Amino acid sequence: MSDNSKITTLLPDNIAALTAYSSAKSEKLTGTTWLNANESPYSRTPNINLTDLNRYPDPQPQQVITRYACYANLEPEQVLMTRGADEGIELLVRTFCSPAKDSIALFLPTYGMYKVTADTHNIAINGLTQELLLKGTVDEIVTAVADSKLVFICNPNNPTGSMTSLDKIRKITQQLAGKAIVVVDEAYIEFCPEQTAASLINEFCNLVVLRTLSKAFALAGLRTGFTLANSELLAPIRKVIAPYPVSTVVASIAADALSSDNIASMRRQVTILNSLKAKLKSWLEQSPAVIKVLSGEGNFVTLKLKDKQSFNIALEQGLVMRAFTLYGENDWLRISIGNEQELEQVKIWLDGLSLTSN
Ligand code: PMP
Repeated sequence: MSDNSKITTLLPDNIAALTAYSSAKSEKLTGTTWLNANESPYSRTPNINLTDLNRYPDPQPQQVITRYACYANLEPEQVLMTRGADEGIELLVRTFCSPAKDSIALFLPTYGMYKVTADTHNIAINGLTQELLLKGTVDEIVTAVADSKLVFICNPNNPTGSMTSLDKIRKITQQLAGKAIVVVDEAYIEFCPEQTAASLINEFCNLVVLRTLSKAFALAGLRTGFTLANSELLAPIRKVIAPYPVSTVVASIAADALSSDNIASMRRQVTILNSLKAKLKSWLEQSPAVIKVLSGEGNFVTLKLKDKQSFNIALEQGLVMRAFTLYGENDWLRISIGNEQELEQVKIWLDGLSLTSN
């Protein structure tokens, strides 16, 4: 076998130094109750009929685009379908940023893929704080992001659940017109649909909204997302995207998920998940094993444990949640909202911890 260590000498410095995104599935954990990836507990077999698999697919499947545009209250030309919202992030960085010239702004703590994508493409990061985004004035925020090309606002923010008001997003976008693009990542927006920034797309050419079918639509396995923006902004991205990004199989399942019946069913599931979240939040707030609970919007609750060992106790019980380092502390945990039975496992774990904490 040839010397594999030589491969590293062929890598550009930024890729050699890259820390890959640690996805929930890459951690190789074992368990029986999975509440670590903000997935939906509801799984459904899609009603699809596949033909023409000998042919290349429509690069942007028309029925899916029309249905999503209708769902998002936009025009079809304002919708680009991607391989998950993650591909949308990647395409934005690849299309709009030049290494050694541009940077992206993000408000930490936030979703990890913005940084991984920027690092992959050798794009500098202007790392700001959620505190600035939430408590700072529009002028302070605009000054802080002034030199960045893309400004990522995760709304609701993963993992804190916090929300930036639409009024603030509107003002930031207005002040950055002609200078930067504001990217509002709405992966979890179905859990608080009234707060979407999608309608602002009709006002601003420098606004992008990212969406996904992975969360409320219960299709994380499908790998489908949407990049929403005006056609002027989408045009260069359409030049960069792979020739056939969406398979015929994916397009059929996505079209089915976006039928009016299935959208109505998704909304009913969201109502149930939001009420289960309120229940989980109250258990956590009462638990002596928990120091702090961050619960805003989204299908998850993030908390700080009194003792990190509690996470290992959960794993021993087959209960898998996402451990996090937040604010420099490694005893944070994010729990995805599962179904009633799954949350019962969380309750059993918390009750066991209470006995030892008291
Ligand atoms: N944005 C946020 C805030 C997320 O939490 C996630 C997934 N965890 C994504 C984007 C990626 O979504 P997708 O599965 O569509 O790639």
